[in-house]
Amino acid sequence: MAKRFSADKYVAGILAGDRVMLSRAITLVESRLVSDLDLAQDVINQVLPHAGRSVRIGITGVPGVGKSTFIESFGNYLIQEQGKKLAVLAIDPTSQRTGGSILGDKTRMESLSINPQAFIRPSPAGRSLGGVTRSTRESIILCEAAGFDAIMVETVGVGQSETAVHAMVDFFLLLMLAGAGDELQGIKRGIMEMADAIAITKADGENAMKAKAARAEYQNALHLYPMAASGWLPKVSICSALERTGLDTIYQTIAEYVELTLQNGFFEKRRHDQNLQWMYEAIRQGLEDNFYAHQQVKDQLPGIAEQVKEGKKSAFAAATELLKLV
Ligand code: GDP
Repeated sequence: MAKRFSADKYVAGILAGDRVMLSRAITLVESRLVSDLDLAQDVINQVLPHAGRSVRIGITGVPGVGKSTFIESFGNYLIQEQGKKLAVLAIDPTSQRTGGSILGDKTRMESLSINPQAFIRPSPAGRSLGGVTRSTRESIILCEAAGFDAIMVETVGVGQSETAVHAMVDFFLLLMLAGAGDELQGIKRGIMEMADAIAITKADGENAMKAKAARAEYQNALHLYPMAASGWLPKVSICSALERTGLDTIYQTIAEYVELTLQNGFFEKRRHDQNLQWMYEAIRQGLEDNFYAHQQVKDQLPGIAEQVKEGKKSAFAAATELLKLV
């Protein structure tokens, strides 16, 4: 078991910007030990008044689109050109400690990982999506309290994790590739709808023309969606992480979005709604954990499940019977 400190010690370290303490506090919130839970919540509660002063940016896109390379380039841009302190977190429920998880391979973010103004944290391995998202959300708070004012949350553009990331960030950036047949194919409509901006990556070399054409096409596609509650019309831009072009435009887009939504109140509203959403999520998760940890449920579930499988009992009746045990 990792070393534990008092809540005060974690809090003092985090507020002083001590990266080692920040890392240890994140390990604490990632812990699944019941005995760590109260300590973790104590730390979170104490740093909460010092959190929130950042822009939280979600980044998604299919594997190979260039997320790691983009985060490396854009991260360095934010630090060098905009004077930001950047924390990069990942949500990757499929990652294994041995496998090639996103961010797991820090060599793809070589310069960022050694930059004192950056803090990179891979996704905790071998966790359910629910477990990963809870700890990532709490890690955002810890990073903000430690003085990081730009937070990037990276996720792979497959499955449910984008929805979870969208629910914890202020701005959602979708990375896409130009070409490859039908421009809009393979992109789930739901993800496009969540995007506050789309960046067409790898707009360099002979890809540059295709990227420009794709930009026009995506911009037209986005016009078809109804106006978002934020009053913001999602923007499409092109960039090359390799050649470090287009990064300034993406930054300006984020800055414009933040300015608009701070003024019209949507920025705060989105965060408030997210807070509530996470409370209900925690309740749901807690109820579920309690249910499955209940001894009678543990005893009876396998037998009842077998009956349902064989069609001897209806699924609903079985669920009701089990729920009544708790
Ligand atoms: P991820 O799986 O989305 O994290 O993608 P990576 O960042 O690992 O990039 C996948 C591949 O695309 C790598 O071989 C990169 O070198 C390449 N790549 C990433 N960004 C660019 C870019 O801006 N231009 C070009 N030409 N290649 C890029």
